[in-house]
Amino acid sequence: MSSPPPTLRFLGTADSKGVPRFWCGCPVCTEARTVGINRRTRSAALVSGAGETLLLDCGPDLHAQLARLPGPLVPSAVVISHAHNDHLLGLGDLLDYAVYASGDVGMNGTSAGATSLVPIPIFTPAGVLPQIEPRFQYAFRREPPVRPLPEEGLHVAGLHVRAFRVPHGANGHSHAFRLDRPGLRAAYVTDAIDIPEGTVRDWLTDLDLLILGTSFGDESAAVHAGRSVYDVREATALPWARSARRVYLTHLSHDVDVRALSLPEEWAFARDGLEVGI
Ligand SMILES: [Zn+2]
Ligand SMILES: [Zn+2]
Repeated sequence: MSSPPPTLRFLGTADSKGVPRFWCGCPVCTEARTVGINRRTRSAALVSGAGETLLLDCGPDLHAQLARLPGPLVPSAVVISHAHNDHLLGLGDLLDYAVYASGDVGMNGTSAGATSLVPIPIFTPAGVLPQIEPRFQYAFRREPPVRPLPEEGLHVAGLHVRAFRVPHGANGHSHAFRLDRPGLRAAYVTDAIDIPEGTVRDWLTDLDLLILGTSFGDESAAVHAGRSVYDVREATALPWARSARRVYLTHLSHDVDVRALSLPEEWAFARDGLEVGI
């Protein structure tokens, strides 16, 4: 019997600042503090399939995101898109999490000592590694805990996982991921803007599923030079995004009220905890 198709669970769907933001009294942040339809943690996703799991990014909310999962889960692999805090700073927790999951620490915090620690394979595109190492020097003193993602990608959770470079506006560049299996072409693109035609042609054409970051609803009034992620208005006008069969928008700031903004058919806002077939 073949195993069920993989699923992708949105662990977090916020922009770099989370929703609600510190001190913010806007209607979205106020709603996020009470009912919480717009309450969002920093963007990350967990793909499950073929008895394996793949974690996409490990931001500062990772501890709460993993602790909220129903059972202990050691990701079969982790990929980090770029070295911005909102995608990386859960790395320390992730390394601790591996120690606890290995059973090397008893319930009272003392070392059980019996089991050997199997490190979680953590990957990032080779160019990102030099930006991660100086921020986690203590962890890199022994065997480096993060390794370069092979050009040809990984086979994990029933998917072929590859990274590709995307412009990140004022922030330089980031990476997005292609997740493929027979009969499915999916892309996870959280931090990008002004993606050039060649990249669209090679990576973002004829998609069955597109997960796209749109930090704001409409930033047309902002100075374009300071922008780093598409807004909802731009995303819904992108021909390559419009041609995807299903679209979920993520990496949403407090500017996006998921109750108020309407989207094209087959498009939806992602929310923390939402699970979709992939
Ligand atoms: Zn981000
Ligand atoms: Zn970023």
